[in-house]
Amino acid sequence: MFEKILIANRGEIALRINRACKEMGISTVAVHSTADAEAMHVRLADESVCIGPPSATQSYLNIPQIIAACEITGAEAIHPGYGFLSENARFAEIVAEHGITFIGPRPEHIRLMGDKIAAKQAVKSLGIPTVPGSDGAVGSDRDAQIIAAEIGFPVLVKAAAGGGGRGMKVARKPEDLSFALATARAEAKSAFGDDAIYLEKYLERPRHIEVQVLADSFGKVVHLGERDCSLQRRHQKLWEEAPSPALNEAQRESIGKVVTNALTKLGYLGAGTVEFLFEDGAFYFIEMNTRLQVEHPVSEAITGIDIVREQIRIAAGGAIEFDQSDIVISGHAIECRINAENPFTFQPSPGTITQFHAPGGLGVRFDSGIYSGYRVPPYYDSLIGKLVVHGKNRNECLMRLRRSLDELVVGGIDTTIPLFQQLVRDPDILNGDYHIHWLEHYLAAHGA
Ligand code: ADP
Repeated sequence: MFEKILIANRGEIALRINRACKEMGISTVAVHSTADAEAMHVRLADESVCIGPPSATQSYLNIPQIIAACEITGAEAIHPGYGFLSENARFAEIVAEHGITFIGPRPEHIRLMGDKIAAKQAVKSLGIPTVPGSDGAVGSDRDAQIIAAEIGFPVLVKAAAGGGGRGMKVARKPEDLSFALATARAEAKSAFGDDAIYLEKYLERPRHIEVQVLADSFGKVVHLGERDCSLQRRHQKLWEEAPSPALNEAQRESIGKVVTNALTKLGYLGAGTVEFLFEDGAFYFIEMNTRLQVEHPVSEAITGIDIVREQIRIAAGGAIEFDQSDIVISGHAIECRINAENPFTFQPSPGTITQFHAPGGLGVRFDSGIYSGYRVPPYYDSLIGKLVVHGKNRNECLMRLRRSLDELVVGGIDTTIPLFQQLVRDPDILNGDYHIHWLEHYLAAHGA
């Protein structure tokens, strides 16, 4: 097992990884920008190294500085968390070239899944159902029109290099397609430096269902059930639950088998998530994330498995010590993403937190690096905490979430808490009756 791990991230996920390390008796190195010198992830790690100015490109994305921090401190492995360098195949290779272990999948799988067109083709050949769409990248607008007519409108134009919902445009009818292609290409070019795009059938009322997997270097692949992340705004998840209120036991078992069989054939290693849209009883692959996800705690709550601990054990060459049949889904869990944003306009709201009180009690987990007096910097993602609640069943979980949200105080800045306080009382949410476009409609109807 490793003696020292460097955590190449910040905020709540750096704390989350630090916690797993501590419980495994591993010492930790935090890295930070000058803007994060006072941050909790720096204070709680055993050692810390300042790697650059506030701008992420010069700090949390600065590969030479991170490698140097590893060498200075003698860290043997790097956990990249999510975002930043976590899905950068070249980074994973550089880490390995320096004799350091990358806690994550093999670079070739990171690269494969990072190209959404190649990923779709690969998983299709492994037996995973995909959304009907173009066979690869589309060339001219004329070609796109022909393919779109075959798929049938509405169609979705998506960026091959996509992520975070960027470079995605809907065309409802043939006349809209040229504009959607041009805007998706421009957005993809500026966000990813790659304007390759492809077409997919636009699904009108699907749910977003994703399957969490773990795979070790001995060929064992297990899944931890699914998460339902259908409550999204601009393709960004806000509320995630496990298990999905929309799946029955047979559907859960069947998609779990499809995913574990495919990843066994692929020779996948580490933690990963296979994402699907689910409509009228059918699953359609959209992408695979080759990393730890923000919403992983809901799966931890219902399975009792510490996913970060497993990632570290697997990276150190350990075997997964349980079988699929040992994984029992118990109760229900919901996560709310507490963002430093206006709850209805979603304008970022950096600034000083003047008051803070975390909720507690049975089944309540609050993953966050904030404290009273903490200044939320304007340079990074607006996620400042995750409230994760677990109950014996969905009803108990919802009641617990309601009271936990009412206990949670974050003063001095705007947060998404008031939105969740409304959602947890909404009849559709209470019935589990929602899809990926539900929240946008709700926000439009409630004055957003
Ligand atoms: P990204 O990598 O940018 O997150 P994804 O392919 O994971 O892109 O899609 C993000 C979200 O966009 C999905 O959760 C869903 O809400 C929406 N989406 C993606 N593909 C489709 C589709 N074919 N039809 C309708 N919505 C879609």
